[in-house]
Amino acid sequence: MGVPGNNPPPPGLAETELFAVDAYRTEFDATVTEVDREGGRVALARTAFYPVGGGQPSDTGTIQTPAGTLTVTGVRRERGTIWHTVEGDLPDVGAEVQGEIDWDRRHRLMRTHTALHVLCGVIWADHGIPVTGGNMEPMKGRLDFPFPAMSADLGAQVERRINEEIEKAHEIVVDFLPRIIADTDPALIRTSANLIPQEIDPLRVIDIVGLDRQADGGTHVLSTAEVGRVRVVGTESKGKDNKRIRIEVLDETEGTP
Ligand SMILES: [Zn+2]
Repeated sequence: MGVPGNNPPPPGLAETELFAVDAYRTEFDATVTEVDREGGRVALARTAFYPVGGGQPSDTGTIQTPAGTLTVTGVRRERGTIWHTVEGDLPDVGAEVQGEIDWDRRHRLMRTHTALHVLCGVIWADHGIPVTGGNMEPMKGRLDFPFPAMSADLGAQVERRINEEIEKAHEIVVDFLPRIIADTDPALIRTSANLIPQEIDPLRVIDIVGLDRQADGGTHVLSTAEVGRVRVVGTESKGKDNKRIRIEVLDETEGTP
């Protein structure tokens, strides 16, 4: 197992997909590389806008062009190209633009995404059960686990354990593990990272040091302390061997009398 964070990103990634290497980057300059006039969208030589994927919604924000301001309403990766769907007058290919993501929304998504990984880590540590699916919006999310049965007080117990781990202020490291190492890592095997196509090498890994490690494309905070408090707001059976846990992330001042 390599030292966390010691493996560099693949060539070019840090210059093109800024969100993958620095989740705190909010502004960037870029050149327009493609314009889809029918689809109302643009591709840029580099971007800090996260494209929807892995249960995390895309960023929103603005792109300043020589002709004015575009509002970014959605971002999607298609066959390797990241397309920004925009409202406003489309620029020409070659135009120099400045992008800015909606940081309030992004930071809430980072806190929520990290909270869901803490939930994964707790369920694995306490019950030995791997996650099978999930989704999130800013400040709320859900994960599914193949629990055979779920007791009434499991939700309360899980909530207590999530907040306990958050308070430990676990460091969160983005690593790029060579496949030859990743494919023998027990934490990555149990989250099925070994099923990701072999041509994806290295694997981007989010390591909540000491709690949870999984292959992941999303954006995360630097410490679990930054998440805030988490409340378990629902536990539901979605059929035999599939139980859903819903959480909400609270701001520090919320939920305290
Ligand atoms: Zn994730």
